Amino acid sequence: SSLLGKVAVVTGASRGIGRAIAESYAKYGAKVVVSDIDNSEGQTTVESINNAGGNAVYFHADVSCAKAHQELVDFAMKTYGRLDIACNNAGIAPPSFKVADVPIDLWHKVIKINLDGVFYGARAQIPAMLKNGGGTIVNISSILGKVAFPELGAYSPSKHGVIGLTKQIALDYAPQNIRSIAIGPAFIQTELLDGLSPDFDSLLKLHPIGRLGKPNEIGEAVASLCSDSFSFLNGAYVPIDGGFLTQ
Ligand code: NAD
Repeated sequence: SSLLGKVAVVTGASRGIGRAIAESYAKYGAKVVVSDIDNSEGQTTVESINNAGGNAVYFHADVSCAKAHQELVDFAMKTYGRLDIACNNAGIAPPSFKVADVPIDLWHKVIKINLDGVFYGARAQIPAMLKNGGGTIVNISSILGKVAFPELGAYSPSKHGVIGLTKQIALDYAPQNIRSIAIGPAFIQTELLDGLSPDFDSLLKLHPIGRLGKPNEIGEAVASLCSDSFSFLNGAYVPIDGGFLTQ
């Protein structure tokens, strides 16, 4: 297994893309700390991994809280002794507004979870990774970290910020063997979409492949990118989008 011996933390891993990433990490041999604010679904992720022969535990952490990230990393170190991989996945899709109509408190809420949450994560994860000679930080951005989308006045800017932060981490810590990668999923079939565009057909047409993505198509790609086979990939933005960004 390509991740054998590695220890991974995944935020927002109670469902959707985060759960799929946690499952793929475990499938390739990593020990996984599953983290979220939804404790009961988090336990479901853990059971799914452990029932399949993997090794996972759950830890509650709200990514918008810097202290929670430190506690999460401390828990991983205490439980499994090291930290090699951190996937900052937790994020929210707010109701749609054009920029001038975004309520100010909504703007701050989205930035706090989607962008501050990744910064707080990296801040806690980097020192732990340095203790064992490096690691990989994967930040889940979006295709909407590269292009705008009608009326996503706060979401798209937050995801653009994640790509910038990913590059900054890569530049600052490449000499110390920390890799940082931003992932750009197109529209993936998860509950996150419930709050988004009701116009499903027009959404499909934006994907040249003719369908939306599945969570495990992100999970499998992310797990591969975290293996040592990708040791020279650093600071990259990797779209996983059925061709969305080609047009
Ligand atoms: P989802 O809503 O299905 O799952 C998100 C998970 O994050 C949930 O388990 C939720 O409890 C958790 N979460 C929410 N706020 C949190 C917080 N403050 N602290 C900790 N956990 C929190 O969403 P998803 O579709 O699986 O999305 C996962 C990530 O992928 C998000 O960052 C999202 O922006 C990104 N993304 C999703 C899509 C898509 O189409 N689904 C596309 C591109 C990017």
